[in-house]
Amino acid sequence: MWICPQCGRTFARMEQAHYCGKPETIDQYIDAQDEAVRDRLRAVRQAIRAAIPEAQERMSWSMPTFWKGRNLIHFAASKKHIGLYPGDEAVAAFADRLAAFDTSKGTIRLPHDKPLPLDLIADIARWCMAKHAK
Ligand SMILES: [Zn+2]
Repeated sequence: MWICPQCGRTFARMEQAHYCGKPETIDQYIDAQDEAVRDRLRAVRQAIRAAIPEAQERMSWSMPTFWKGRNLIHFAASKKHIGLYPGDEAVAAFADRLAAFDTSKGTIRLPHDKPLPLDLIADIARWCMAKHAK
């Protein structure tokens, strides 16, 4: 294991090439995360992208974001989970299907040790698009 002295991130390989600054694209953001989480972040991104291909990908609030006239949904890596941020109304609308997950106002926590509910993520993204896209 190697810890980059500049950004403090952890890599399996010594001197692993990576983007060390503030990520400006979703690719840079994902590349900047711990290796163990990258595939999960890619899966979340792919599920959302496939669900709402008309949305633009961008960084907003330092998080990967899907945008159409306004921010629709963000996600971000944390130590123990991926946070999905579709907004209060979406979390309330999907409360039944989210019963197995830790949620709070506008936030869904997808723990690293559970399979990702990719169909549910896609449905939430579609809901956000239908409700909020401009
Ligand atoms: Zn670095």
